[in-house]
Amino acid sequence: MAKIVCVLYPDPVDGHPTRYARDNIPVIRSYDGGQTAPTPSAIDFTPGEMLGDVSGELGLRKFLEAAGHELVVTSDKDGPDSVFEREFVDADVVISQPFWPAYLTRERIARARKLKLALTAGIGSDHVDLAAAAERGITVAEVTWSNSISVAEHTVMMILGLVRNYLPSHDWSRKGGWNIADCVAHAYDLEALQVGIVAAGRIGQAVLRRLKPFDVKLHYNSRHRLPAALEQELGLTYHSEVKDLARVCDIVSLHCPLTPQTDGMFNASMIASMKRGAYIVNTARGRLVDRDAVAQALKSGHLAGYAGDVWFPQPAPADHPWRTMPWEGMTPHISGTTLSAQARYAAGTREILECFLTGKPIREEYLIVQGGGFAGTGAHSYAAA
Ligand code: NDP
Repeated sequence: MAKIVCVLYPDPVDGHPTRYARDNIPVIRSYDGGQTAPTPSAIDFTPGEMLGDVSGELGLRKFLEAAGHELVVTSDKDGPDSVFEREFVDADVVISQPFWPAYLTRERIARARKLKLALTAGIGSDHVDLAAAAERGITVAEVTWSNSISVAEHTVMMILGLVRNYLPSHDWSRKGGWNIADCVAHAYDLEALQVGIVAAGRIGQAVLRRLKPFDVKLHYNSRHRLPAALEQELGLTYHSEVKDLARVCDIVSLHCPLTPQTDGMFNASMIASMKRGAYIVNTARGRLVDRDAVAQALKSGHLAGYAGDVWFPQPAPADHPWRTMPWEGMTPHISGTTLSAQARYAAGTREILECFLTGKPIREEYLIVQGGGFAGTGAHSYAAA
């Protein structure tokens, strides 16, 4: 029987919800491109309810315990005395989420002698040392597509929020003010701006599609060029180098995985090469940008705004400069964990576990690392080009 250690974010401060704003969520059976939504044999939860916190347990306990497996669920993940530190050493499976990542470093992987599967309940497995996992023959899998649209929607919201100065204007209304001039002194229209995305994968393409009706000029960089018909349909300008895109765009949105090649991509010199008054939106990974260079560029006025919901490390310390820098539109890492997304990634987590526990192959598109190297989605998105 397997031991499964699952690290999830803590319950809400007022306790696990018992009532919800809406009675249900739409049923989504497949994604753009045709991949089917998760197909576990059954689910033991109600879609639309909180599943990603500790009490939600991803809806896994009944299923796992009925089959005789052990499930440990905790949010206590950091420090030498944490529950995770104690429990992962003899786990067969570690489930973690990018929102509240249990970092599976090389050193931890060396101590996790029984570990066979590192499962990301969401998308983005950079919290696992993928090279160390490959060397140990550990499979790394994630629920590809489960929250891609959730993130794309959040990205469009952040772009509009920054350009139109939504959050500071909202603050004036909450404070009881009617300070029109204060609000609009930093507000513009999105229409006709040059908007570029880095990485035209699932999220990147969904962002491009959602921005198209705003009549912006769209640019992209990716290692592989999109089909000519799609470039034409969306009116895309391709840049083979990120620096060329950065130079011409008013808004740059990041959608690549964190890899040795993308780590620190938007450093001080890349930011300095951008137009004065440009905006950066980052819903991909905090380490894609240089923390202090962003804060400095906002202070100096070189950047007009920065929004994102990804930080490093997570949770971010209380004194992280992105919490207080000017013209920021930060959220804690939430874009991919709406109640709608949770239903999909919880079902996908169960599907992957069902396969793993019964010796069936895990869907190719869910694989990042398997058999000692990159596989499936990992072979396209994480492997060096
Ligand atoms: P995909 O695998 O669909 O897309 C990633 C794309 O990145 C690939 O198409 C790859 O395409 C491109 N890429 C890889 N390396 C580079 C590089 N060096 N330069 C430019 N492009 C590169 O993943 P998703 O779109 O689903 O997710 C992307 C990332 O978003 C995840 O890895 C994760 O970090 C983050 N994410 C964040 C979430 C959140 O809650 N905030 C939730 C979900 C994901 P090509 O090789 O063709 O360039």
